[in-house]
Amino acid sequence: MKHCDFCRIDVEGTLDRCPLCGTPLEGAPTSDPFPNVAPVRQAFRAEGLLGTITLLLCLLVVPPLAAGLVGPLGALAIVGTLLANYLFLRNILAHASDVLRMVERYYFVLLAMALLAYMATQAPMVSCLVVPLLCIVALLVNGVLLLVFRGSFVEGYAKYLIMDIVLGGVPLLMVALGFASWPWLAYVSAALALLLLVALLTGTRGRFAAESRKLFDRG
Ligand SMILES: [Zn+2]
Repeated sequence: MKHCDFCRIDVEGTLDRCPLCGTPLEGAPTSDPFPNVAPVRQAFRAEGLLGTITLLLCLLVVPPLAAGLVGPLGALAIVGTLLANYLFLRNILAHASDVLRMVERYYFVLLAMALLAYMATQAPMVSCLVVPLLCIVALLVNGVLLLVFRGSFVEGYAKYLIMDIVLGGVPLLMVALGFASWPWLAYVSAALALLLLVALLTGTRGRFAAESRKLFDRG
């Protein structure tokens, strides 16, 4: 029988990794306790959405590459980062219970990393492309989630939505400070932030305002 050294449990069947902690299992496999049937399809395929977004972002590298804003090596680095990011997030999807909250937090981490990278390198690729793209993706994802889940999404995620809207203006701030010479993606990010704010204030029948008030009362 297989055994997880970390959780100190025995696991029947042919699993490679511990179902609790993900550690590779030791020992010999036994016959599978579950019948061999296809897994049930989930209604909300977060993984497919993630793959689609990754592919679209990879394609977004083409125009700046054609315009000479990014060299071939830079483009390769961006695509490589996007793919690594996809694998990282797919791993989160497979293991975390509250995926959405992890992803929302992960966006803040990525944005902080990008801003640090800009401070370190002053590379226009980061200020013109990476930072605004991160904001655009976050705003788009939240926009889609808002469309799908409406009021119930606002209820649990008001503080993330507020952060996303505020951070959506960061690329524009970088343009204003003279850090980004190619401002178009910053405009898109700011416009999306404004659009999300309007959608929240008008489309959720006061729920967003009530949730926000609760947040600030507590703080
Ligand atoms: Zn384990």
